[in-house]
Amino acid sequence: MTKKEQMVYTPDELAKQKFDVIVLGGGPSGSSCASFLGMAGKRVLLLDRAKFPRDKTCGDGISGKSVKILKELGVIDNIHQVEHLKMHGVTFSSPKGVVVEISAKKKESNEPPGFVCPRQVFDNVLFQNAKKHATTLEGFFANDLIIEDGKVVGVTGTYDGKQYSFRAKCLVGADGVGGISARKLGALNTHEDHLVSALRAYYDGVEGMNDKIELHFVEESLPGYFWIFPLPGKKANVGIGMVVSDMKKRKLNLEKVMYDVIEKNNLFKPRFANAKKISEVKRWQLPVGSFRPKTYGNGYLLVGDAASLIDPFTGEGIGNGLVSGKIASTILLKAFEKGDFSEAVLSEYQTALYDEVGNELNTSYKLQKLVKYKFLINMIINKAARSQTIRDAISGALIDPENQKQFHNPLFYLKVLLA
Ligand SMILES: Cc1cc2nc3c(=O)[nH]c(=O)nc-3n(C[C@H](O)[C@H](O)[C@H](O)COP(=O)(O)OP(=O)(O)OC[C@H]3O[C@@H](n4cnc5c(N)ncnc54)[C@H](O)[C@@H]3O)c2cc1C
Repeated sequence: MTKKEQMVYTPDELAKQKFDVIVLGGGPSGSSCASFLGMAGKRVLLLDRAKFPRDKTCGDGISGKSVKILKELGVIDNIHQVEHLKMHGVTFSSPKGVVVEISAKKKESNEPPGFVCPRQVFDNVLFQNAKKHATTLEGFFANDLIIEDGKVVGVTGTYDGKQYSFRAKCLVGADGVGGISARKLGALNTHEDHLVSALRAYYDGVEGMNDKIELHFVEESLPGYFWIFPLPGKKANVGIGMVVSDMKKRKLNLEKVMYDVIEKNNLFKPRFANAKKISEVKRWQLPVGSFRPKTYGNGYLLVGDAASLIDPFTGEGIGNGLVSGKIASTILLKAFEKGDFSEAVLSEYQTALYDEVGNELNTSYKLQKLVKYKFLINMIINKAARSQTIRDAISGALIDPENQKQFHNPLFYLKVLLA
């Protein structure tokens, strides 16, 4: 049987089998991890409570970091065939209303550094790809992990009203912030200083958009930001996010803040004058990477939102979800070689993970804190508007995620101050 012809089993048949790995959650983290493991020849069972295509509350912004892994998964051409819009930069605005556009075009090709793609569409591409490499079951609601002799050996839950248990040599918890893995394994991020609350709605008829995502540090939304992420036509994903403790301190109602920006702020009022909200407003939490839970243990690893890996400054979580899915697959393949899924062996995952994303998460946490100082944002955006050097530095980071490393160097900020 080729990898493109995975057998379809009933839940009763699946319950009788023993898998190499169970991946719980078929979002970007889980689908990527299941695909990488399946591509390496492992028998993987990928479970999700939803039936795909399913929506996920998100800004729908997909960055260069994600694009790199999408290429490795071989799905980038599939994305080009579905609803999406290529993005070539970012537009920022400051509380004082200064707007700066940062272009990010590769000199050698027209390939965009990122794109915007509705999650209902994007996640389905990843999940359908995972079906080529893993056995999947949609509509399975996990309600507990099976732990024997201190080791995770499976998951139990309901499908069509009936209880089922599935077993494997190890489990990857990819079921996000609302799932059971992080909660049952004592790794759930419940810290209001390390959780962002955000909401989004889809609008049609938004004026003045181009090929750039828009992050606006407007007075009303501080210390969070208001975003407009363009979609084909004049459609856009529009939203706002803020650290939960800040939101509570300021007693803000995020939905009201979003409408205030759209209806009263001089930068946006004309742009939304003829726009219509075409979806309900949906809200969800972002567990950000300023909190570091234990992401491994006997028989399990946690990836993506279940491991609290969202960028604390930008709110981007898909990239680190995909990266963690890939790293988890690499560590598990080593564990298979040793035939050992103990905490000692799997601890290598946490080291590898934070070696890859740790510095970036630290820098983003510092930037998130800077946003609390209005005069600093005004100053930085003013300077960026005037200084080609700063715009080039940001542009370089958008084109190639490797260039983001300059932001971890304090000298870069000295350069910004002196620019
Ligand atoms: C408003 C908002 C805006 C955002 N904007 C962006 C953005 O523009 N760009 C970006 O990169 N990131 C953004 N993020 C973050 C991003 O959405 C997440 O980081 C990303 O979805 C994480 O992927 P994941 O696969 O780890 O988890 P998820 O995408 O949450 O997937 C988890 C999966 O697990 C399944 N599941 C959960 N519980 C169970 C259960 N009990 N049994 C079975 N299955 C279960 C779910 O059905 C789901 O399919 C945003 C988040 C929010 C809330």
